[in-house]
Amino acid sequence: MPDPTIAELLKQAARPLLSFEFFPPKDDAGLATLRQAAERLLTAHPDFVTVTYGAGGSARARTLEVCDLLRHMGFGTVMPHLTCVASSRSELTEVADELHRRGYRNIMALRGDPPKGETAFRVAKNGLAHASDLVALLKARHPDICCGVAGYPEKHPEASSLETDIQHLKIKLAAGADFVTTQLFFENRFYTDFVRRCRAAGITQPILPGIMPALSHRQIQRFMAVCGATFPPPLAAQLAAAADDAAAAQIGMTWAQRQIEALLRDGVPGIHLYVLNRAHAAPLIASLRR
Ligand SMILES: Cc1cc2nc3c(=O)[nH]c(=O)nc-3n(C[C@H](O)[C@H](O)[C@H](O)COP(=O)(O)OP(=O)(O)OC[C@H]3O[C@@H](n4cnc5c(N)ncnc54)[C@H](O)[C@@H]3O)c2cc1C
Repeated sequence: MPDPTIAELLKQAARPLLSFEFFPPKDDAGLATLRQAAERLLTAHPDFVTVTYGAGGSARARTLEVCDLLRHMGFGTVMPHLTCVASSRSELTEVADELHRRGYRNIMALRGDPPKGETAFRVAKNGLAHASDLVALLKARHPDICCGVAGYPEKHPEASSLETDIQHLKIKLAAGADFVTTQLFFENRFYTDFVRRCRAAGITQPILPGIMPALSHRQIQRFMAVCGATFPPPLAAQLAAAADDAAAAQIGMTWAQRQIEALLRDGVPGIHLYVLNRAHAAPLIASLRR
């Protein structure tokens, strides 16, 4: 049975959707951790889950493996991510055909980051330059596939301005993308302002806020360096002063919970949680689902 599309879920939902993002682990130990976390997170009954996509053949295969595992475990709708990195049009078409054949009807369409050791994105031979090209390819090949795309409340690091980035987001949506999931942010004002600007620019599709409960000061610094999001000084100070990792994770969870409660009060269409293959967010989710 093919998955329902997230576009349909968003239209039919009587309450905001809940989704989790996993990544394909590197080894068997990582897979065991993911499986344990997923078992616990399954009890929150998320509306859908997503699995990120790495560059290179084996990383790609692992995305599909984890998607199949999550499906097998009982997660209803599973959305693989797909990127343009190091892939020609025909390779991307093959992956899309394989996903479609297996019943996947939702794909997160991304350009992708440069592979490790490289600083700039390079278009692969006969490949695609932008996520919008991937959306167009997927929609032309399989019109029944629902596409999510990435949005950046604090702008994509390569974009010259937020306005320009929103114009590029508009191109992805005009190519047929159905909804937007945002990059993580720790201050809701960035999301609220982003949505306001998107609406003013004529973007009508749902914009799901992406929330990552912080685990430690070290971890957040690493993420911030990559994604360019603001690390609020009060959160940084609290995490830096935490006695140990458990105390830091509790601080991160409380921060995320406040963010989510405020977002839900504001009527967001859903909450997308970057769970990092850990179950530490489970108590937070349980309180949200009450
Ligand atoms: C929710 C989410 C999930 C992610 N999942 C993954 C994953 O699974 N694997 C992974 O490797 N990475 C992932 N990423 C990271 C993402 O791949 C990077 O941020 C990447 O650098 C940009 O991808 P994009 O799809 O936003 O690209 P694009 O939309 O193509 O944008 C990239 C840059 O190009 C500019 N641009 C876009 N279109 C045009 C155009 N037509 N003309 C000129 N400039 C343009 C944009 O303004 C932006 O600066 C994810 C990010 C998010 C927010």
